[in-house]
Amino acid sequence: MKYYLLFGPPGAGKGTQAKLLADKYNLRHISTGDLLRREISNKSELGLAAKALMDAGNLVDDSIVEKMIENEIDGNPTVPGFLFDGFPRTVAQAEALDALLEKRGGAIDKVISIIIDDALVYERIAHRAAVEKRKDDSNSDIIKNRIKTYHQMTEPLVDYYKDKGKYFEIEGDGTIEEIFNKISSLI
Ligand code: ADP
Repeated sequence: MKYYLLFGPPGAGKGTQAKLLADKYNLRHISTGDLLRREISNKSELGLAAKALMDAGNLVDDSIVEKMIENEIDGNPTVPGFLFDGFPRTVAQAEALDALLEKRGGAIDKVISIIIDDALVYERIAHRAAVEKRKDDSNSDIIKNRIKTYHQMTEPLVDYYKDKGKYFEIEGDGTIEEIFNKISSLI
């Protein structure tokens, strides 16, 4: 079983690339953002708990996303691998993921980080806001908060995975195809 992780700030293009890569390599794409939005549209209890946090650009509780990830992994025992997108987002989540995979005899193979600067994050999200109509894309204070949250809570994972020798970076300022080719060469 292979476990890949796509890493990067909001708007880096993780979701776009993950869909293409999942198709090419027959990986199960797990986006915690998509899973949470599904819970919200189903009006589940979990969705209700997550909605206000997501709309404000804050992270949802670690325990909630960790449980979703565990369900996805255990619900798909026959796939050749998984591609995580938007998870982990905190060191605690990364530790929980390592423990979860270790229990199942696995480990993260590679973390592929898509590098874009904050100015491009704004530009990309503004463009996406018109297409996807996500509440958290619609307002510049919320976008700023998501970028701040990324730097504070998520960026420490760079060192976490570098220390394990699993961290690879690619430049995210290019066409979808250019970035796809760069990631493919790492997988
Ligand atoms: P983006 O990468 O553009 O921010 P996502 O769909 O990955 O979009 O995430 C949207 C929101 O969902 C996040 O701002 C956060 O509120 C919530 N979320 C997604 N993944 C996680 C996670 N691993 N931990 C906590 N919250 C998460």
